[in-house]
Amino acid sequence: MTDFRDDLEHTSGSDNIEEHETDEYEKVCMMCRRTESKAGKMVQLMQGMYVCPDCLQKSFDSMQNSPIDYTELMKNLPPNLGGLDLSAIQNRQIPPRQKIKKKKEEKSEEKKQFTMKDVPPPHKIKARLDEYVIGQEKAKKIIAVEVYNHYKRVLSEPSEDVEIEKSNMLMIGPTGSGKTYLVQTLAKLLDVPLAITDATSLTEAGYIGDDIESVVSKLLANADNDVERAEHGIIFIDEIDKIAKKKNTNQRDVSGEAVQQGMLKLLEGSKIEVPVGANSKNAMVPLTTVDTRNILFICGGAFPDLEDIIKERMSKHASIGFAADLKDKFDGEKNLLLNVNAQDLRTFGMIPEFLGRLPIVFSLESLTEDMLVQILQEPRNAILKQYQRLLELDEVKLTFEEDALRAIAGKALEKDTGARALRAIIEEFMLDIMYEIPKDDNIGEVVITGDYVNGTGGPRILLRGQAALPDHTM
Ligand code: ADP
Repeated sequence: MTDFRDDLEHTSGSDNIEEHETDEYEKVCMMCRRTESKAGKMVQLMQGMYVCPDCLQKSFDSMQNSPIDYTELMKNLPPNLGGLDLSAIQNRQIPPRQKIKKKKEEKSEEKKQFTMKDVPPPHKIKARLDEYVIGQEKAKKIIAVEVYNHYKRVLSEPSEDVEIEKSNMLMIGPTGSGKTYLVQTLAKLLDVPLAITDATSLTEAGYIGDDIESVVSKLLANADNDVERAEHGIIFIDEIDKIAKKKNTNQRDVSGEAVQQGMLKLLEGSKIEVPVGANSKNAMVPLTTVDTRNILFICGGAFPDLEDIIKERMSKHASIGFAADLKDKFDGEKNLLLNVNAQDLRTFGMIPEFLGRLPIVFSLESLTEDMLVQILQEPRNAILKQYQRLLELDEVKLTFEEDALRAIAGKALEKDTGARALRAIIEEFMLDIMYEIPKDDNIGEVVITGDYVNGTGGPRILLRGQAALPDHTM
């Protein structure tokens, strides 16, 4: 049997104009959808259509073993190939978003390699997080150390004696306490690609919903289809508590336990075939392989009712040998979540294998009024700073009285959605200010008072070069 693959070694075809034009992107086999770096030197069939040596060989093999006499068949074909319009196929180029960037050659000078120099030491990571995220001291410290260790493991030569374990994390904290924000800030400061996904949308492969592997495809897209960059990125899976094992169910748990099972391989590290530029695999989408071994997975969730589970465990402990009057001992306790352990998470419905692959578990505190006041004004991109800047462009000074800050924070606490409520509350009264102020060029300063926030008074308006006017109702 002829082996066409040997011949291909010698036919480079590099005089092709198109090859120069698309030098940056990988060619994809139209039959198996693998890329050139995986399948070997492609053979061009027509413009924009390639086939890999394996598929070509397979086609020829099947032709040779087939009872059909292809020579006769070709002779009898009508001139227009029996009405088949090949130009349609020929014009089908792979859309740009589905193209895969070629891996750069190791020796290439311009290649910006991600090295340990790009990863600041833990205290610097924490200091950068401090600029944006208020409170959550313990969480920031753990993240800083674990991320640093993670990249040390990824970027160092593997040692024969000690194998450093992957430090995937599980972050527990109430809604709006800054889980997503922490991860976003982290990815930004490290300049690594980040994919955020919601566990509720994931289902076992084959069911309606996103496949578990779609998260890797999202990461690849955020890394500009650069596999190498994606391979040291971060994947944040939010609402992980929603895939807890369903209790008392006879049906197959396709969006709960099965998703946890499906994620095991991903978290641990495996080579995954992902579609490029699309969420699902199909015949027309090129595939590439991403190794998740070096991807840092961070899972986050609010885990409602986990507090009760912790309380029950702690009071059981406490009441050994005593009367059960200790049972309510932990009722008023804030931040019970900080005492979480693996046993509690198992009771909640996370399977042990899943927890085993998330060795770092930590909690975020619920935000207090003081923290909310700080969030309003301290972070680098604090909401108040943003409004102040907006009015500054109109040459108007915007100030907030302490009372006003407390009133905003108090209202946000009532909504129980953490810092998320702040913006909506401010927007409500700032709308009027932003509407009215540009009307009058004489206004030099606006002072937001507690009464104005509470709806019992107006803001204080100061004219340019004048003393304060009495409270002004808008
Ligand atoms: P969740 O914990 O539900 O993921 P997010 O991280 O999405 O909450 O928080 C929502 C918004 O609230 C963030 O975009 C951020 O602006 C603000 N925020 C929340 N927590 C903090 C915090 N600790 N410090 C500063 N801003 C915060």
